[in-house]
Amino acid sequence: MRILLVEDEARIASFVVKGLCADGHVVEHASTLDEAVNLAVSREFDLVLLDLLLPDGHGRDFLVRVRPSQPDLPVIVVSAVEDVEEKVELLDLGANDYMTKPFAFTELSARVRANLRQGQSSSRVLRAGDLELDTATRVVTRGNISVDLPSREFALLEYLMRHPGQVLTRSQILDAVWGFDFDPGSNVVDVYVGYLRRKLDVPGESSPIETMRGAGYRVRH
Ligand code: CA
Repeated sequence: MRILLVEDEARIASFVVKGLCADGHVVEHASTLDEAVNLAVSREFDLVLLDLLLPDGHGRDFLVRVRPSQPDLPVIVVSAVEDVEEKVELLDLGANDYMTKPFAFTELSARVRANLRQGQSSSRVLRAGDLELDTATRVVTRGNISVDLPSREFALLEYLMRHPGQVLTRSQILDAVWGFDFDPGSNVVDVYVGYLRRKLDVPGESSPIETMRGAGYRVRH
């Protein structure tokens, strides 16, 4: 995931960048308010970590300037300011979460994960490789070709695409898509993955849904 880190203290910034990169994220760092706003409105990010006291202004102005054009971008405020009124004001301005400095990196990392999950579950269009699934219009496309899916197949693909690159076991899939506990005699998941592949696969290309032998299925990134 792409994360924008807004932080003017070099020592904290380098510690956070290292940790987030080790977690597998791509991080851009801004050390001033102007730089942060310019990056946020010109590039795509999945999440922002926002310091409040910046050399050229206050983090609150980041929210004021960026929120109108980026209503769904998760923003976690990370600040030494512990004032309750200030926290309330920032949450009212659209901050999604608030962490107090000093912090343990493990907590920051967990909050980043939680906020990314939330952002994903509310985001309308899911993408994985050249697959696109719009949860509102219920349109699925591969490349530029749209594919009609009955509701159960749509639900299965949506579940796989909410976890791109992650191996999901048959029992996880059954539970999420069919809502019943794993029945060892049932091959319904394999049957439905087969239906999806028939509609989504392109001759001569590998399927966007991979079989992980003995483990389950995953959709390619
Ligand atoms: Ca600061």
